[in-house]
Amino acid sequence: MCGISAYIGKKDAAGVVLECLKKLEYRGYDSWGIVALRGSTGSSPGSSFSVIKRIGKIGGVNSSYLKEAIGEDSRIAIGHTRWATHGGVTEQNAHPHFDCKKQFAVAHNGIIENYQELKEGLLAKGHIFSSQTDTEIIPHLIEEAATTAKDFPEAVREASKLLKGKSAFVAVSASLSQIAVVRKGSPLIIGVNEGDNSEFYVASDINAFLEYTNKVMYLDDNELAVIDGGVKFFSISTGNEVAKRVVQIDWHPGTAHKGSYNHFLIKEIMEQKDTLAKAINQDDVKILTVAELIKSAFGTFFVGCGTAGKVCMAGEYLFSKIARKHVNSVVASEFSNYQHYLTNKTLMVAISQSGETADVLEAIDTAKSKGVKVISLLNVFGSTMMRVSDDFFMVNAGAERAVVSTKATTAQLAVLTLLAYATAGKLQEGKLLLINASAAVNDMLNPRYDEHIRKLAGLLAVRKETFIIGRGLNYPIALEAAIKLQETCYMHAQGFAGGELKHGPLALIEEGTPCIAIVANDETKSDIISNAMEVKSRGGFIIGISPQNNEVFDYWLRVPDAGNASPIVNIIPVQILAYHLAVLKGCDPDYPRNLAKSVTVK
Ligand code: GLU
Repeated sequence: MCGISAYIGKKDAAGVVLECLKKLEYRGYDSWGIVALRGSTGSSPGSSFSVIKRIGKIGGVNSSYLKEAIGEDSRIAIGHTRWATHGGVTEQNAHPHFDCKKQFAVAHNGIIENYQELKEGLLAKGHIFSSQTDTEIIPHLIEEAATTAKDFPEAVREASKLLKGKSAFVAVSASLSQIAVVRKGSPLIIGVNEGDNSEFYVASDINAFLEYTNKVMYLDDNELAVIDGGVKFFSISTGNEVAKRVVQIDWHPGTAHKGSYNHFLIKEIMEQKDTLAKAINQDDVKILTVAELIKSAFGTFFVGCGTAGKVCMAGEYLFSKIARKHVNSVVASEFSNYQHYLTNKTLMVAISQSGETADVLEAIDTAKSKGVKVISLLNVFGSTMMRVSDDFFMVNAGAERAVVSTKATTAQLAVLTLLAYATAGKLQEGKLLLINASAAVNDMLNPRYDEHIRKLAGLLAVRKETFIIGRGLNYPIALEAAIKLQETCYMHAQGFAGGELKHGPLALIEEGTPCIAIVANDETKSDIISNAMEVKSRGGFIIGISPQNNEVFDYWLRVPDAGNASPIVNIIPVQILAYHLAVLKGCDPDYPRNLAKSVTVK
C-alpha cells in the first residue's frame, strides 16, 4: 500500500521525490527510501546510485538532511514510503531494492503472489538477496533478463511478465537515463511538462505532483512506460507501443496544511462545518439519473471497506427507511461471494475515499465481468475507481490527510442520504434536511463543545475498552464509532446493535465499563434507552449521544436533532472524542500505528 514517486528532469530530482513522497505518506509510513542518480545530464555509464533508507515517517525530513545523505544535483530519482507486507519494518527491507550488482533499483507497491517460487529460481541461479521482501525479486529478475534482452525496457517487460498479483513499480538503471514504470493492478500515474525543459513525474496518485504539473498520462493495467527525454507506453504482453494522450486535470483537492491546528485529524473534523454543504452540492440531473438506475436495477450492491463499508451499511438502512428500497451492503473483500447474483441488470455503488482501495477495485472487476453497471462515490479525482466506473460522484470533502477518515465519511453519508431521498422522489426534501444538518453541525463545532468532549476523554483515557450501541440508522454508526476509537487510541472498542448486547456481550460489562449509547430521536429511541439501562444496571458508565438528555446518561454529548441525517451528526462527537483520546494517550492522531489511509493491497 506504499507510495511510489519518481522524477526525471532538470530540477533536483531527489528533492522533488522527497516532496512528492510526503504527499503519499498516507499510503504507508513505516519506512522510506530514495535512490538518486547524480550528474548534470542524468547519469552516465559507470555512475552509481546514491541511497538513503530510514525507518519511520518521511513527513519531517527536510531537504538539507536529504542532501547531506545523498548529495545534490540529481536528475533522476525514485522513492518509496512503505507499508510492509513481506518482511519486517527494517532499513534493509525499505525500498528501493537492488539486484546483485546494484545496476537496477526498484520501488514497488503491492504483493508478488508467486515471489517464493521466483526467488527459489533466482537463488538457484546464484542471486544474492539482502532483504526479506517480495519486492527484491524484481531487480534480480531484471538483472537476469538483461543478460539476453535487447535493452533495459525489454528486460523490465520480461521481468514484469513473470509477476503474479497486483503490483506497480518503477525501475531505474544506473547506466542509463531511463525510468521504467510498470502497472499491473496497482496505480501509477505519470505527470508531464513537455517543451525545452521537459520533465516527468511518476506517482501513486496525482496529488503527489499536482503542485508541479496538472498534465497527466494514465498508465493502464499491464502496461509499461519508458521515460527518458520523452515517454512511450507499451503493452507488457505484446511489447507493442500503445498510443496515449495527455489529460489536463482541472481539479484541486484543496488545502492540505494543518493551519493553526496541531493535527490534520482535528482540522479535518472541524472542516465538517463546510464539507457537508459541499458534498450535497451535486448535479441534480445526475442524482436523479442514478436514483432511476437504483429504482430499476435488479439488485443494487453498496460496496466499500472499513469506514466506507460502514457508510455502505448506513446506506442500506437509509434506503430502506427513506426510499423503501432494498439495497445490499457488502464488505468489498467478501464481494466475490455474491458474484452468482450478478447480471447486467445489477447495479454497484462503490465507495472509497481514495478511489484506490484494492479490495473495492477487485469487487468492481468482478462486477464488470458480469456486466454490472458501477457508480462510484469518491473524494480523489483521477483515481483508478473513477476511471473504471461507469459514472461517479465526487463527495467534495477536500484533501483528507489524516489516516482516520472523518469529513470524507460524513460527506459520503450525505451523498447517500441525498440519493435515498431522490430515489423516494423527494430530492428537494432531502436537500433541505441536509442543509439544515449542515447548519446544525456548523453550530455544534464550537470550542465549548470540543472542551466538553476533551473532559470526557480524560475520564475514558484510563479505560481499556468501550462499547458503543445504536439501533436502526445508527447501528452502522455504532460500528463506525468503534473503528474511530480503535484507530486513534488503540482502545478495544466494539459496536453493537442495541438489541444484541443481551445475547452475549453484556457479560463483559463491569463497574465503570464505558458504553456509548447513540440515541436518535426516532422510532428506535425507547428501545435503545432500555438497552442503555440494561448496561447501566450492571455497572456500565453510559455516555449518551442524543439531542435530549436522559436520566440513564452519566455523560451527555448533545447533538442536533437531524432526523434522517442523524448518522451524520452522531458520528462527529465520537470523532472528536477519538482525537482527544489519541492526544491524551500519546498516540499520533494522524498516523495510527500499523495502518495506512489508502489500502492498496488485498
Ligand atoms: N510487498 C512490498 C513490501 O512488503 C511492498 C508493500 C507496499 O506496497 O508498501 O515491501
